[in-house]
Amino acid sequence: MNRENKRILVVGAGFSGAVLARELAEYGFSVKVIDKRGHVGGNAFDYVNEIGLRVHQYGPHLFHTSNMKVVDWLSRFTEWTPYQHKVKAQLRDGRLVTLPVNRETRDIVGEAHVLDIFFRPYSKKMWGIDLEELDPEILQRVPIRDDLNELYFPNDQFQALPSAGYTKTFEKILDHPNIDLQLLTTFDRRSEPDFLHVFNSMPIDEYFDYALGRLPYRSVKFHHFNLPIPRIYPVASVNFTHDEPFTRVTEWKNLPGHGSNNAFTTLTIEEPCDYADNQFERFYPVKDISGKNIELYKAYKSLTRDNMTFIGRCGMYAYLDMHQAISSALAISRAFLAQRP
Ligand SMILES: Cc1cc2nc3c(=O)[nH]c(=O)nc-3n(C[C@H](O)[C@H](O)[C@H](O)COP(=O)(O)OP(=O)(O)OC[C@H]3O[C@@H](n4cnc5c(N)ncnc54)[C@H](O)[C@@H]3O)c2cc1C
Repeated sequence: MNRENKRILVVGAGFSGAVLARELAEYGFSVKVIDKRGHVGGNAFDYVNEIGLRVHQYGPHLFHTSNMKVVDWLSRFTEWTPYQHKVKAQLRDGRLVTLPVNRETRDIVGEAHVLDIFFRPYSKKMWGIDLEELDPEILQRVPIRDDLNELYFPNDQFQALPSAGYTKTFEKILDHPNIDLQLLTTFDRRSEPDFLHVFNSMPIDEYFDYALGRLPYRSVKFHHFNLPIPRIYPVASVNFTHDEPFTRVTEWKNLPGHGSNNAFTTLTIEEPCDYADNQFERFYPVKDISGKNIELYKAYKSLTRDNMTFIGRCGMYAYLDMHQAISSALAISRAFLAQRP
């Protein structure tokens, strides 16, 4: 194999692309990573704002998993700050109750009202559809508990935040002599012949010019702002139960290692919408009971040539948490390397 045909293109510097790039670079491939955005990290990108608080540009990213292989891999590039996420819901009268619904919350609102208070308005806002139209799996993501546990992820063995932030972690992952990173670079199909293989985290339907139709996504508009108040909420994330279009607010200083400011606080309010109403920023693949979106995804996948692998949330049209994106990228790189002579 000469040097030229050892070149790999990775489209997207989010978790899926960055992990693959690092694995292949360590194996000896020369890896070009491009991202159309001006930063690494994909949707996990964070930054320290003008008042010294760390903000996750695309909404709060909490790392939680029981997959210790993923933790070991990522721990090569970051120290960890332990953090167990707690979420409150604000009722219409302003009271805060624990989410997911535990015994205390259920006793406060009454069991008969749980669905109408916490699930019905949320699904309308988040997914733009009525509760009954949702994929049952999405409902299962928010269980009701019969205990007083306040943890949002009660079962995950490892819960922590990268001590210096996600962006710094990505910079370390991508810092390898065999990796050439180019930001503000959109994938151009004409470059394909220059590479032995392309690992592509762009939306699969976009790659095929929507020839079979569009895969639907929900998006979120993030409204970041500072207020001249030391602190507003007792926890990092508060979900709204009202009928206004906003689903939740994050108060960044309530996450450990996210900075301090005695006079000001930074909040991010989330407003879900269709991705077409947010500059085609695709955040959540939309599942449906009929399964037609997954069928459309599979039809696109069957068109994919051997020298291309679609990866990540938009390439695989799957709701992947960070640990799942990492685990999937590690498995894909292992399979790819196993085929090498
Ligand atoms: C609001 C929100 C909150 C979340 N919270 C959590 C959480 O708390 N915990 C958790 O584990 N996970 C969370 N996630 C999921 C997490 O963001 C994903 O697991 C992770 O971002 C997946 O990485 P990825 O590389 O697959 O995709 P992405 O992070 O989306 O990266 C894909 C990259 O590809 C680039 N790209 C796309 N098309 C092109 C193109 N044509 N040319 C060049 N570049 C292109 C994009 O710019 C992007 O940077 C959350 C996601 C969202 C949207």
